[in-house]
Amino acid sequence: MSQTEELAFWSYERKCEKVVESLGKNGFTAVYCPTAAQAREYILTEAADAETIGFGGSLSVAGLQVIEPLREAGKELLIHGAHGLPLEERLAVMRRQLTCDLFLTGTNAVTIFGFLVNIDATGNRVASMFFGPQKVIVVAGRNKIVEGDAMEAMQRVKSWATPPNARRLNFNTPCARTGFCSNCNSPERLCRVTTILERKPRFTDIRVLVVNEELGL
Ligand code: SF4
Repeated sequence: MSQTEELAFWSYERKCEKVVESLGKNGFTAVYCPTAAQAREYILTEAADAETIGFGGSLSVAGLQVIEPLREAGKELLIHGAHGLPLEERLAVMRRQLTCDLFLTGTNAVTIFGFLVNIDATGNRVASMFFGPQKVIVVAGRNKIVEGDAMEAMQRVKSWATPPNARRLNFNTPCARTGFCSNCNSPERLCRVTTILERKPRFTDIRVLVVNEELGL
């Protein structure tokens, strides 16, 4: 690791620890993971007693490469984004995610005050985050940390996450072409459901892994 990388790691570590502390004060079970590999191990351990595992479609989770080991362990994987799945079947998978044993997702942003901020088009991902699954694990790479309030977190999502996601998912929105949010009124607008988890939802076992690596958008 170069000196620059060491200093960046140190700086992010302080921020990650602060986020973990804030999340803890807000009732979440929060864990600092210095590396993505440690987050991966945490998930595989926690998945041991789960039979059905839902995936929110997160690039952060995809980056941890947990799908194959979970499949090999005989888990039923609920992945609505599987290639070629017809709409009705995708919706059926999303509904089953709402009651799965373990739901794995990223977050669009986590604030330094310990709020989880997300913006969805369908709402299935955020719904599964706050009620339904027996257990939820949220993966937050260090690039998701916002040193501000929920409004600033929403700004981050619309500046940095949604435009490239719209492009990735082939949505016909202005931001998918320009890279900038214009608060569009497009029929394909992704920004339809905004959630701010200010405290742990009362009946949801939710863990947040704060990872000192860049994960997702
Ligand atoms: S409001 Fe429209 S332009 Fe702005 S980020 Fe959302 S989809 Fe893109």
